[in-house]
Amino acid sequence: MTVYLVGAGPGDPELMTKRSLDLIASADVIIHDRLIPDGALSGARGDAELVFVGKQGGGEQIPQSEIDQLLVRHGQSAETVVRLKGGDPFVFGRGGEEAEVLAGAGIAFEVVPGVTAGIAAPAYAGIPVTHRDSASSVAFLTGHEDPTKPESALDWEALAAFPGTLCVYMGVRQLEGITQRLIEGGRPSDQPAALIQRGTWPGQRTLVGTLGTIHSLAVAERFGAPAIALFGPVAALRERIAWLESRPLYGVSVAVTRARAQAGKLGGRLRALGATVIEAPVIRTEQIPGPAPDLERYDLVVLSSPNGVAGLFARLSAEGRDARAFANTKVGVVGGITEQALAHQGIRADYVPRRWAGEELATLLVDVPLERVLVAGAKHGRETVTDALRARGVEVDVLALYETVVEPLDSERLAAVNAADYVTFASASSARNLAAAGFEGVGPRLVSIGPATSEVVRELGWDVASEATEQHDLDGLIAALLDDVKRPRQS
Ligand code: SAH
Repeated sequence: MTVYLVGAGPGDPELMTKRSLDLIASADVIIHDRLIPDGALSGARGDAELVFVGKQGGGEQIPQSEIDQLLVRHGQSAETVVRLKGGDPFVFGRGGEEAEVLAGAGIAFEVVPGVTAGIAAPAYAGIPVTHRDSASSVAFLTGHEDPTKPESALDWEALAAFPGTLCVYMGVRQLEGITQRLIEGGRPSDQPAALIQRGTWPGQRTLVGTLGTIHSLAVAERFGAPAIALFGPVAALRERIAWLESRPLYGVSVAVTRARAQAGKLGGRLRALGATVIEAPVIRTEQIPGPAPDLERYDLVVLSSPNGVAGLFARLSAEGRDARAFANTKVGVVGGITEQALAHQGIRADYVPRRWAGEELATLLVDVPLERVLVAGAKHGRETVTDALRARGVEVDVLALYETVVEPLDSERLAAVNAADYVTFASASSARNLAAAGFEGVGPRLVSIGPATSEVVRELGWDVASEATEQHDLDGLIAALLDDVKRPRQS
């Protein structure tokens, strides 16, 4: 029985440590705060007990003594307890106090550091907290208390004289008093200052000014918590280093409608381009169990999706077989990602159409002598290749390896999708399923992976803003999205 005091990082889910994700996935109980990354708990076990102990709305924080009791109680009864906090648990997170309580109660615990906001928020704003030329030290402080009160725990005069960057947590409310005290203490009022709100979250905002101006700027721009205030020459480096805002999809929100297992890849690519990604996993694939087909019997096996590849290999593997089952048969694929999935299994596809469409594969096979073909893929999949081959007298067996099942969207997700700038459709079924989940196609601009998907989008009564032209895969989809973002538009 162990309690893990875990840092969840500053907000960007990609900045969660591997250790934190592993522990969340195995925890019996997760006791968490409000400021944790979006989706941080999505990897938790279905039967895990999730206990929220943060501030509800503008309400009161649960008293620390109650949280301590919860930790001890769960720590004594559950195998794995995760106490999940924003940023790092030992940086203004009361992790130290909780560790003391656990130690006192004789409960085993472990501390899992996280990326702290005081470093990460400036980093995302293009501000290094130290710099060889302008800051050889950095001090982290809490701006929680009113600095003008005599009982303030911080020595503001000493801090004003501190020869390095001052990084202030929880300081927005007291910003006026803090800057005043620092200037009174002798810190130059024209020293660069920065305020970063919701650093690493979608909608991160940064304000740069001086010690003398930052408070009034913050009021004018309505900056609020959570924010990091930074005082020191490094704040001026943002002008040269800001990298986030220069990305092609910065400020653009994109809803991704792939199945959960695949959404991560497209989401990751879009995030890397600066987009805010809303995952709307409306479909999920389920493998259909069954015996592995005898591939020896066929001249050609056609696979049209990575799921099909996975399904076929799962069946082979269940029978103790492997890629050698393909030894005497040729393979045709539809789609670059299918080709890649197959290559991953050590098999190079023989027939790969340039465009992602069954029609193209059928055309490619026109002059290939074939007697018997296996088309393996989705239950109720498109039958383009099957029909074309049968039309010329080829014997075709169709094998359903998996089916897609609809996964309903909750109202919060749906609202987020409706508010997005873009929705991407990587398949016709994802469009149909998003419609079934209540999306009405109004608001976001819609981007499709190819003609077949676009057709369905239009059947639903929606407009396709952009369609992948060259490649009907993730690259093509992203290119189509970028094209549309760049396209001049009347507003
Ligand atoms: N343990 C956390 C800090 C908790 S105190 C950590 O290591 O990051 C809460 C304060 O952290 C907020 O008031 C704010 O000053 C800062 N903070 C947390 N997340 C932030 C974010 N994403 N952007 C800016 N400041 C953040």
